[in-house]
Amino acid sequence: MADQLSGAGLAAASDIPSLDRLLNAEALRPALATHGRTQVVAALRRDLEALRKRALDGGVPRHELDAAAVAARTSAALDEAARPRLRAVYNLTGTVLHTNLGRALLPDEAVASVLRALTSPANLEFDLDTGGRGDRDDLIDDLLCELTGAEAATVVNNNAAAVLLMLNALADRRDVVVSRGELVEIGGAFRIPDIMKRAGAKLVEVGTTNRTHAADYENAIGPRTAMLMKVHCSNYAVTGFTKSVDVADVAALAHARGLPATVDLGSGTLVDLTQFGLPKEDTVRETIAAGADLVTFSGDKLLGGPQAGLLVGRADLIRKIKKNPLKRALRVGKLTLAALEPVLQLYRAPEFLAQRLTTLRLLTRPMRDIQPQAERLRGVLAHAAGPSYAVEAVPMFSQIGSGALPIDQLPSYGLAVRYAGSGRPGRHLDRLETLLRRLPVPVIGRIADDALWLDLRCLEDRDEAAFAAQLAEPLA
Ligand SMILES: *Cc1c(COP(=O)(O)O)cnc(C)c1O
Repeated sequence: MADQLSGAGLAAASDIPSLDRLLNAEALRPALATHGRTQVVAALRRDLEALRKRALDGGVPRHELDAAAVAARTSAALDEAARPRLRAVYNLTGTVLHTNLGRALLPDEAVASVLRALTSPANLEFDLDTGGRGDRDDLIDDLLCELTGAEAATVVNNNAAAVLLMLNALADRRDVVVSRGELVEIGGAFRIPDIMKRAGAKLVEVGTTNRTHAADYENAIGPRTAMLMKVHCSNYAVTGFTKSVDVADVAALAHARGLPATVDLGSGTLVDLTQFGLPKEDTVRETIAAGADLVTFSGDKLLGGPQAGLLVGRADLIRKIKKNPLKRALRVGKLTLAALEPVLQLYRAPEFLAQRLTTLRLLTRPMRDIQPQAERLRGVLAHAAGPSYAVEAVPMFSQIGSGALPIDQLPSYGLAVRYAGSGRPGRHLDRLETLLRRLPVPVIGRIADDALWLDLRCLEDRDEAAFAAQLAEPLA
């Protein structure tokens, strides 16, 4: 029986090489050098077990038992298992601060600083002047105060944590008055009412979805009120017949009753964006100047830094917040501080900001750079996509993303790919989108209106050659 099978090019279970023989085979050397004996032995056992099963079930082609064939399968399996799960991608979605793609990209200064902090001891909580214990917040609080006009500052893991901490520290078992028009849900299950509950604060909703007046706040204030709070609407806009009470008026109402006014600014920009041709967004400094006693905002949205939640405001409130045990639970690590400090430093020289701060450079990337790039890459993508698709260089609109300025859109340029055959394009566009996503550096676009759109705003010139090289061959 076995002879018959082998005559037909099939091997029997008894022909399967031993683990020891394979481990000594020349062909396994590279896998052993790369992945180590432990992993290679485990992978070989899995491969041999599969071969044995198939041999017993009817036979395995003899050539699959060669050491070279076993080595190739083993290496492929181990290489695949070792491939990083967190990978670089090209963000051609048109959303610059894309939460699912990691939001802000850090400038070189921040990268160098993180590298230093990763590979050498640093004075994270060590006062170099006195030789005594330091506070990690000291590394950035002066800078934050300088850039916002606040008296004091602290930092936690993200802005959701900042809001949670602020509410727990200042409003535990007390009332927080918020307009119904500002009870927002931010992506990823951050809802103001839920955070409020978890923080132990009681939400007192005032006004209606579209209109809230000063009297609504005033009438809601009682003996249990801890603060009046405003929340940036971030990812949606209330338009039409609307009325809200601005920070200055809410602050005046709060102060008249001896209460603090707090603002969750969400994206929280540190500079007037209109000087860069971007839409107006209240800065943190303006919000503090308008009377807010405490402002929270994200580190990795418009600020362009690492994921972090920044709290700035009155010194007595910040002191209280820093004493809350949640502060310890939500504190940032040294990598965050190492990245944040150089980013904040960049804001000291606003004239260089649009060049040096990656987020701002992308948001202000001029059409005269993007359009020719789209025209250069049109042919590259057309060749890679093949004759079933038509590729055009077209104007489009980018978005800032992460809840910043939800309505305003930035004129941009990119590639629109349409299915050139007859019939419904959906499946064909999905296929192309999948092929682009499976490239060594995945290309992420978006499908809408029967086309695949690749917005080139975030493909900087220095990355163009590598991007095009991936598309040199037709996509399989
Ligand atoms: C984005 C946002 C948050 C959450 O900030 P993260 O840094 O993502 O935790 C909270 N509030 C508002 C208004 C936001 O826009």
